Amino acid sequence: VGSEMCIRDSLYDDQNIFAKILRSEIPNETVLETEFALAFNDIAPQAPVHVLVIPKGPYVCYDHLLSEGSSEEILGFNNAILQVIQKLELSPMDGNSGYRIISNAGVYGVQDVPHLHMHILSGRSLGRMIEKD
Ligand code: 5GP
Repeated sequence: VGSEMCIRDSLYDDQNIFAKILRSEIPNETVLETEFALAFNDIAPQAPVHVLVIPKGPYVCYDHLLSEGSSEEILGFNNAILQVIQKLELSPMDGNSGYRIISNAGVYGVQDVPHLHMHILSGRSLGRMIEKD
């Protein structure tokens, strides 16, 4: 909002590929959509199940949403993650084989697309959490 614009707001690049997906400028394979989030298949899946969940708001990474987002947006985003887990029947709570959620941020996280996304991976054993040095 004018001079009150937070410096963090200027970090968001609205030409990133997920912003274009949200504006329907490029297609996606939608898994589900809610008021606050979109879930779609990753274009280069690294497991039999590889879904990306993104908030509809302009957030770069998870801490950005948590620090700047409204309670509604934070809850809505997390609820969309729950809906994906339920829709794809991934929860060990329901006797399923489980999943892994990853959200890369910044340089050390090796984040390629600067719009917050949760990777939800499943369909096979996913091995160690991270590579050893
Ligand atoms: P990051 O490295 O930022 O955590 O992950 C970005 C992810 O976005 C990658 O897994 C990559 O395959 C996926 N991706 C990049 N471009 C597109 C696209 O145009 N459509 C879809 N569905 N996924 C994409």
